Amino acid sequence: MAADDLEPLAPGICLACYKPILRKELKVAKEFKCPNCQALVRTSRLFRTMLYLTCYGIPTVIVLSSDRSLVSGILLWLVLAFAFAMLYIAIATAIRLPKMELVRSKDGDFQSLDLKR
Ligand SMILES: [Zn+2]
Repeated sequence: MAADDLEPLAPGICLACYKPILRKELKVAKEFKCPNCQALVRTSRLFRTMLYLTCYGIPTVIVLSSDRSLVSGILLWLVLAFAFAMLYIAIATAIRLPKMELVRSKDGDFQSLDLKR
């Protein structure tokens, strides 16, 4: 096993078993179990941050600048958010699979980011 402070490995590699996770087995927006070793992993924070910026940020800018009524603005936003999320995932995973990080349940681990909601 590698030390905890090692840099993450190549994209798409499970940090627990060091085997690649196939694109179709990848869940981009939430934690999932590695198909090889069942460790709980997720895509890197950078990947998820960019995903949220793309699928929430761009539609918000478009809707706010389009001067629509509230209802049609919300409907347009929902359609755009979905479309941009699909687009981002398609483009991002086609170029390069996202880096993976392990999800730890241990308290006090500096890698367990504050994402509880
Ligand atoms: Zn694994």
